[in-house]
Amino acid sequence: MLKQEIELLLTPEIAFDELARYDAILSQAGVKPGEADFVHLKRRSIDARGRQPLVRLRADIYSSRPPAELFGPWFFYPNVKSNSQKTIVVGAGPAGLFAALRCIELGIKPIVLERGRDVRARRRDLAAINKEQQVNPDSNYCFGEGGAGTYSDGKLYTRATKRGDVGRVLRRLVQHGATPDILVDAHPHIGTNKLPAVVQALREAIIEAGGEVRFDTRVTDLLLENNQLRGVVTAAGEAIEAEATILATGHSARDIYELLHRRGVLIEAKPFALGVRVEHPQELIDQAQYRRAERGLLPAASYSLVHQTEVRGQQRGVFSFCMCPGGFIVPAATAPGEVVVNGMSPSRRDSRFANSGIVAAVELSDMDVAQHGPLAGLHFQQQIEQLACQAAGGTQRAPAQLLGDFLKNKPSAHLLETSYQPGLVSVRMDEVLGPVLAERLRQGFRDFGRKIPGYATNAAQIVGVESRTSAPIRIPRDKDTLQHPVVAGLFPCGEGAGYAGGIVSAAMDGERCAEAVAALARR
Ligand code: FAD
Repeated sequence: MLKQEIELLLTPEIAFDELARYDAILSQAGVKPGEADFVHLKRRSIDARGRQPLVRLRADIYSSRPPAELFGPWFFYPNVKSNSQKTIVVGAGPAGLFAALRCIELGIKPIVLERGRDVRARRRDLAAINKEQQVNPDSNYCFGEGGAGTYSDGKLYTRATKRGDVGRVLRRLVQHGATPDILVDAHPHIGTNKLPAVVQALREAIIEAGGEVRFDTRVTDLLLENNQLRGVVTAAGEAIEAEATILATGHSARDIYELLHRRGVLIEAKPFALGVRVEHPQELIDQAQYRRAERGLLPAASYSLVHQTEVRGQQRGVFSFCMCPGGFIVPAATAPGEVVVNGMSPSRRDSRFANSGIVAAVELSDMDVAQHGPLAGLHFQQQIEQLACQAAGGTQRAPAQLLGDFLKNKPSAHLLETSYQPGLVSVRMDEVLGPVLAERLRQGFRDFGRKIPGYATNAAQIVGVESRTSAPIRIPRDKDTLQHPVVAGLFPCGEGAGYAGGIVSAAMDGERCAEAVAALARR
């Protein structure tokens, strides 16, 4: 039975040492070692507000055997091999994989179609981008098993806590190999070196339960009959039929948006955000956040920044996005002829660099909706990505400028060392971003420089462009049935449809769509 719940602040040296922590918790609770059976750590966060950064812990002390549900396994997958209702899931990103597993739990057989390759084979395609500047349009940092979430930072926090059960997503990840620390940390993250094994285990669970996962299978057309989706057609010409199709193709599947538009399926332009990635020495961020150069056992420090800007009478937010402490900037383009950057980090977050997207909101009035209709945001994004590529020489080398120089609007005579493998080329970023967006980012950076000493100086550089922050298009759906309002049998899902932003919210949305498919089957 539970004896006591306790909250305490410890130095990192004690908090990260299992035995010392156990003793400290019992001593603060006034419990003698023999009186407690088990200490369950519930929450761990860094409190860097005081002179010395401390670790805040919450724990339960049990005087006898703790409840079994603390340890899992939490999920059981029935076999759906024979006579089960089938559902197509397009895309094996977090939304697609979690939709497939939830389908299985509800007795539905998922057929997952993924344009890219499995996690192992995908690694070779990533090496080709980094070393040979070659982008495979079906297998890259956005496409392939695990989706955009595989070779990422693996940050698992979300503000969308009302859209589903965050704990359930985290427990499923732990059951399939993620560290149990993610159930405890206030800012959980897995890391790009650990994610592929977890993704592979999710796939194996789908197959073992009788589901199908097909790689190298790009969906290129829809089997549409009188506003009813009967299935999909693949690039190889195969027609696959099912009563329900969960479309979880992510925010970079431009061919899917174009296909929907061409086939007359209602889609809508939506606001998104665009900017650059900024890279600092991690030491500078540690020093600013922890007020000490040596961080010792503390995790690499991070930040979250936001500022309201005004340019030509228009207000827009500028904010940090997907901050990766101790990480790398990666080339996230999905086609040759464009340059897109993003960030990832290994589980130990031990690179010498801190990077973060710094992006400005792009509203519908900033796009040419009159000319491009619902695809306006996509054209806006694509144009800047192509400009970035041309400005830096037409390969995957990215345009960059020292941050202090950008603020003074002067070219950089040299650039700094970087974690971005394909390499950087000195470019005036105004040429890529245009004067309005560049001015918004300048206003944002100046404000951030007031908040973090040394931030907005030539100790940092900006790299372009951070354009795949969220989908520039929404695929509408009914709020109760989660089906498209016009096309029955189509369940728009995840980030690409505009209902998620990040790994956890995409996974939660996948589960919701699977539940909606099951509800339809029961009717
Ligand atoms: P996606 O992950 O984009 O998956 C869509 C899948 O559909 C892809 O596998 C794609 O190949 C497939 N597909 C596309 N078109 C077709 C087609 N025609 N036929 C068949 N398959 C198709 N989020 C976080 O929460 N934390 C992070 O730390 C983080 N870091 C990131 C780092 C990087 C480098 C990137 C690129 C993204 C990062 N993100 C992060 C964002 C996160 O990865 C996405 O929000 C999330 O993956 C969205 O999930 P999804 O399943 O909706 O779409």
